[in-house]
Amino acid sequence: MERNEALELLEQLEHSDILMTARCRMVITSPWYSCMLMLMDWTESDRTKTMGVRFKTDGRIECIYNKQFCNQFKPGDLVPILEHEVNHIVKLHPIRHYGRTAIVKSKEGPYLLFNIAADMCINGHRNKPFIENMPEDCCYMPEDIPDNATAEEVYDKLFNDAEKAGRVVTTGVPADGDPTAGRGSMADDHDLWGTSEVDPNTAKQMVRSMVDQASRQAGKIPGNLTDSIAKLKESKVSWKHMIKVTVGRILGGKRKTYSRANRRYRKFGMKGTSTRANVPLMVWLDTSGSMDANLLEQAFTELEGMLSFKLFLGQFDHGVQVPPTPYRRGDWRSIELKGRGGTSFVELFDWIDKNKAQGRMTVILTDSFAEWPTERTYPVTWVVVGNENKAPWGDTVNVTLS
Ligand SMILES: [Zn+2]
Repeated sequence: MERNEALELLEQLEHSDILMTARCRMVITSPWYSCMLMLMDWTESDRTKTMGVRFKTDGRIECIYNKQFCNQFKPGDLVPILEHEVNHIVKLHPIRHYGRTAIVKSKEGPYLLFNIAADMCINGHRNKPFIENMPEDCCYMPEDIPDNATAEEVYDKLFNDAEKAGRVVTTGVPADGDPTAGRGSMADDHDLWGTSEVDPNTAKQMVRSMVDQASRQAGKIPGNLTDSIAKLKESKVSWKHMIKVTVGRILGGKRKTYSRANRRYRKFGMKGTSTRANVPLMVWLDTSGSMDANLLEQAFTELEGMLSFKLFLGQFDHGVQVPPTPYRRGDWRSIELKGRGGTSFVELFDWIDKNKAQGRMTVILTDSFAEWPTERTYPVTWVVVGNENKAPWGDTVNVTLS
């Protein structure tokens, strides 16, 4: 084949599916973003004139795109828009805009202020953009706002300015499908955000496990996303601190904390045990019928928060349903819950004793609606989600729902 012919063929191919070509390019040019895109579901639809993202109940993130929209670009020009979508996801914009609903007047027509604020904090300042080669007319952060501001901070600042200038049209909930809302100078479709089906906590976990997967496969996280990614990692209980103290206590002697004990070992030239990764925790998830979706979500959030330790997760309701098996980050997405019957701590602890499955510490994630078992001598931490019940022995940590 002649070189020209080949090039022509390639060109044809590129025009047949610009989106796929752009995504292929990104494997080379921006591998981390490309991994994130690979973990998403892609749906072609006329529901959008451009492209947008949403969170679904099956634990997946969906990018809905209009093929005509994609095909008007050269593949290289679509890349920044795809990166823009990943940024919306990592910054959790699709589930964060509630309550900030001001519509503001502009020359081009009214727009939803949060939409613009969200895009600004993705795009950064015009003279120092976070994403190179965005479409000419996209909106950039005003000079007087620092480039690490969150969408909420940008919104609040712009809202004050707009209010002073008398440009705020309404602060109520905008009418569904308002054709002009938010269209200002955005490259993508933020209206799809409203069709997200999960609560903020679940969204956070979904993104966190995607980010972990992409980072394992493609290494370095883009610098402008590191702050947002750090924010995804917060869970409610400070497991690091709590378990460190408990484990230190169990190890006994004069050692005040576990990490201090390790430092001393190293000083004497012994093989240093790595601190937390070797401490096995036996975590039991209450899968009884009273643990509804919200409670389970919170339980998994706490579980993910314990991951600097070596985790084994078991499931129980009126008896042990699944014996403890290793748990790795993001496993909650694929775990099959067994049980959904009544709860028995008595049966659970009999099983633990019989199988000598105490681990260094036993953690029970539960709503605690069952008879408490007789006291054991090994360390047990009760993580009670959704209420203030306290166990009569062991340590109790109450976690309220967010
Ligand atoms: Zn956008």
